[in-house]
Amino acid sequence: MSSEPARRSRGAVLQDVLPESLGFGTIFAPLVVTAWYRRGRWEDPVLCELGPVASSIGAKALQYGQSVFEGMKAYRDLGERSPESGSFLFRPHDHARRFARSARRLGMPELPPEVFVSTVVDLVAALDEYVPGRRGQSLYLRPTMVGTTEDLTVRPATEFCYTVLATPSDALFTEPINVWVERGYSRAGAGGTGNVKAAGNYAASFAVSERLLERGFHQPLWLDAATRGTVEEFTAMNVFVRRGEQLLTPPLSDTILAGVTRDSVMRLVEDAGDLQVREEAIPIDGLLAAIERGEDIEVFGTGTAAVVAPVALVGDESGLRLHLRGHETAARLREQLLDVQHGVATTHDEWLLSV
Ligand code: PMP
Repeated sequence: MSSEPARRSRGAVLQDVLPESLGFGTIFAPLVVTAWYRRGRWEDPVLCELGPVASSIGAKALQYGQSVFEGMKAYRDLGERSPESGSFLFRPHDHARRFARSARRLGMPELPPEVFVSTVVDLVAALDEYVPGRRGQSLYLRPTMVGTTEDLTVRPATEFCYTVLATPSDALFTEPINVWVERGYSRAGAGGTGNVKAAGNYAASFAVSERLLERGFHQPLWLDAATRGTVEEFTAMNVFVRRGEQLLTPPLSDTILAGVTRDSVMRLVEDAGDLQVREEAIPIDGLLAAIERGEDIEVFGTGTAAVVAPVALVGDESGLRLHLRGHETAARLREQLLDVQHGVATTHDEWLLSV
């Protein structure tokens, strides 16, 4: 990969300068990777300084939302496996394949997964000093592809820009979250784009999430659009329910994103063997009634940004407010997953790519 204009030197260790509390997604590292798709082919990716992207308001991404993205992380090696204490990308090939699926669904060219992975590796290597050092922190990476062709015909672009933005971040949620059962709006419909990371999916949730934030809730819990009877997922996390010895999560469908964290959590639970993992529909009324009866239940979300986020409160428009007090399973899984991601555990090395 060539660099443009000048590649920054590795320089001093910037962790001393990064603030203790990073927040999520607000501090941008100074380098990005960019690759253009023009005249029917991908041009070589370049490493360049972060800066504004000049674009016409007529670009397809801005007019019609022809934009897809991924969210993945580089974690500092806290297992001290390599002498230089490098970092690990977590399951980058899975993110690459999902990025290709998202692109296909929006009529965009696929970036070959090996190119995706190599651009991310090169960026993390160049931004080594921006991979924060505390457990649970990471360099969050945002590969994005947008249609840049400027015309208003309702057809896909023919030119595309791929970029990877990097932001040193804390986990998205550091405390148990409050969730809102959304019975009015839906996130995804059958045959739609709910199972890919289309930018418009997120824009479509903003009006709902802003209303919730004002009421002290962090994320909507989306129900299936057809019957509003079963639980699907959160805006940026898959959902799990532990009921006694069973760990339930809705089966994947065209309205649910196949989360990399979801799959990882299921694998960790299967390894431990103490809970029975079941992918099955979760009726919302049954779940709320069981919480109300005081059954042994935990609810949590899983996602790259949040890792594992226990749910402390479930509410809805009718004034329902149910508190969930136990978070042992979520807490245990979060620690187990962070052990793998930071290279502390020796299991599931196949999920890590050293940088
Ligand atoms: N569902 C949605 C809608 C999401 O945006 C995300 C975040 N990518 C997830 C689930 C969790 O996916 P992952 O574990 O791969 O981050």
